[in-house]
Amino acid sequence: MRTPEQLEGLDGLVIPGGESTTMTRLIESAGIEPALRTHHEAGRPILGTCAGMIVCDAEHLGFIDASTRRNAFGRQLQSFEADLEVTGVGEEPLRAVFIRAPWVERIAEDVETLATWGGHPVAIRGGSVLASAFHPELTDDPRFHALFMAMITKAQEREAARG
Ligand code: GLN
Repeated sequence: MRTPEQLEGLDGLVIPGGESTTMTRLIESAGIEPALRTHHEAGRPILGTCAGMIVCDAEHLGFIDASTRRNAFGRQLQSFEADLEVTGVGEEPLRAVFIRAPWVERIAEDVETLATWGGHPVAIRGGSVLASAFHPELTDDPRFHALFMAMITKAQEREAARG
């Protein structure tokens, strides 16, 4: 996504991993922020993964009332995999790939923690925003994305009901 127009008509948006400082700068320089806000204010879901989670947090776009810490797992644990229990995806643990991942330092009361690692939230959901510190796209397990798809279906139904 490079222009604001590309956001029009999207039912859901993924803000992926990368480098949050660069992404924040690009959102600004490409003039995409107003279109992102329109999408969010319409209640259309957003999935933020890794740097995407940082970009959505209270210190950046403010789409989810949570604060994150960049590169939180430190040097030794820069990149690792873990089996997480994730609320809403079933009993079977979810294999999660962390790459210089953030963790969540603070969440508002109405933001739900779906998974933790080392005592810190690493998957959260608040309103129409789902966010993970890990990269759900790097495994074959579709369950985290399915959770996001279910949020999109609900949002579509709500929009249709509004007419
Ligand atoms: N460390 C990156 C950042 O702080 C995030 C890394 C990632 O998205 N895999 O923005």
